[in-house]
Amino acid sequence: MLDADFFRRWMTAAAASVDREAERLTALDSPIGDADHGSNMQRGFRAVTAVLEREAPDTPGAVLQLAGRQLISTVGGASGPLYGTLLRRAGKALGDAAEVTEEQLADALRAGVDAVMALGGATPGDKTMVDALVPAVDALGTSFEAASAAAEKGAVATTPLQARKGRASYLGERSIGHQDPGATSSALLIAALVEAAG
Ligand code: ADP
Ligand code: MG
Ligand code: MG
Repeated sequence: MLDADFFRRWMTAAAASVDREAERLTALDSPIGDADHGSNMQRGFRAVTAVLEREAPDTPGAVLQLAGRQLISTVGGASGPLYGTLLRRAGKALGDAAEVTEEQLADALRAGVDAVMALGGATPGDKTMVDALVPAVDALGTSFEAASAAAEKGAVATTPLQARKGRASYLGERSIGHQDPGATSSALLIAALVEAAG
């Protein structure tokens, strides 16, 4: 069973991973964006770890909802409301249980990803975070490791795609040949689940 501590470890591991990879995320956002994805994610996840320490939410649902609200209020870019929605919606789906199963987490993240698609209008193949998140959620029933591998594979597979949503879509065909920064950070978020569990 996964308790609030597990979810706090997940968010802390995600924040550490974003810190380590911030330069790479920003570099990916240079040719097909505005070179701020690393700093956006870093600002957001630093604020998430800070607020989780300050408020110490004591259920999985409360951890994710607070983290999501914090991302929405601290990240100005497109990724803030989208990641915020992912975590808030997943948190809501977990309700106020003190512990949840891996299956409940998978269902909650599925609801979160559906909310991201409803908010941003992207579907798989549009070269966005959705391309990492959908395969990750599909594989979550198997294991966190499988979900992480699927997310990474999904992120890499955005390279040959033409962007149809977000800033990169303004480039049309010139968006082809670059890995999507948001799909890359989504793979980090899912990989952090493995760290939290281990
Ligand atoms: P901004 O584009 O506002 O500078 P970021 O650079 O932080 O925001 O985030 C860019 C990432 O957000 C993209 O790489 C993409 O994965 C994701 N993204 C942008 N628009 C959408 C959308 N409509 N749906 C899903 N993801 C999106
Ligand atoms: Mg950007
Ligand atoms: Mg921006």
